[in-house]
Amino acid sequence: VKRIGVLTSGGDAPGMNAAIRAIARKVIFDGNEIYGIRNGYKGLAEGEIKQLSINDVSDTLSKGGTMLYTARYPEFKEKAGQEKAIAQLERFGIDSLIVIGGDGSYHGAEALSKAGFPTVGIPGTIDNDIPGTDFTIGFDTACNTALDAVDKLRDTATSHMRTFIVEVMGRDAGDIALWTGLGSGAEQIIVPEAEFDMDKIVSEIDTGRDRGKKHTIIILAEGVMRGAEFEEKLNARGDYHARVTVLGHVQRGGSPSARDRVLASVFGYTAVELLNQGKSGVCVGIQGKDIVYNELTDVLAGGSNHQSYMSLYDINKEISY
Ligand code: ADP
Repeated sequence: VKRIGVLTSGGDAPGMNAAIRAIARKVIFDGNEIYGIRNGYKGLAEGEIKQLSINDVSDTLSKGGTMLYTARYPEFKEKAGQEKAIAQLERFGIDSLIVIGGDGSYHGAEALSKAGFPTVGIPGTIDNDIPGTDFTIGFDTACNTALDAVDKLRDTATSHMRTFIVEVMGRDAGDIALWTGLGSGAEQIIVPEAEFDMDKIVSEIDTGRDRGKKHTIIILAEGVMRGAEFEEKLNARGDYHARVTVLGHVQRGGSPSARDRVLASVFGYTAVELLNQGKSGVCVGIQGKDIVYNELTDVLAGGSNHQSYMSLYDINKEISY
């Protein structure tokens, strides 16, 4: 009987529970044992480890957050932290590990794998900023949440003929802004992947207003600047009555969308299969319709190489202002 551990690390993302559930069920139905590790690498180093039964994961699929909790644990960057973790894994007789998280978590998974401990990664982050996969778990739900908020803001923006700046998450990636922007028909999408040109933004807003637009919605990715800073810059240019809304952590919550539940279930299942095949130091992903796996080292070397969907930006420029 093999003993497989699972942990969630870094920022939580809707769909992580669906992945944990798929992993637990696959492992148990394979005739093996699954161990849930609480609080990410911190809980791993401190031995917060418990065997999971089928019942432990029932009724979790539709819930946001992560039933295993998550934590930041900078000590894991050091050998000492990693050695503590490996000692705990040995103590519990765990022979392989699945890590669900973002690129920071992937670095931890790579370190364990390099130290000889079989580890597989699953991309779980709303930011969608992991190379080697078109989508990460939680991104779709976050976009839907942001979209819902923008639709509501549009009602009040129209009533008051105002300019609304909506700051969305994404760290250094513009993905949430791009999908939310095109999906909501925002007049402007401002992302780190495109050159920031205030003159052009102002002239485009003016063109829209001259044509009789009742409001302007600007989706600003947090990676460009904070909403308050942009608000100040815009209001300094004229009578735009710009107001800023920072969506913040609401984007991380909520019941996962259909896409995220399915993606998480497929990723969870595939991660277990990869461990069953003796793979380590790899992470699952989706490219087109294909479920793939990549070397963690390649994905991490790609670092900022994540390709955002800039075609969405170009299309929005043509049809929305
Ligand atoms: P995310 O996984 O969402 O990118 P973080 O960047 O906060 O989130 O990383 C989550 C955790 O992964 C950190 O708290 C730390 O325990 C671990 N981690 C991050 N970077 C490294 C690294 N370079 N080496 C080993 N572990 C790391």
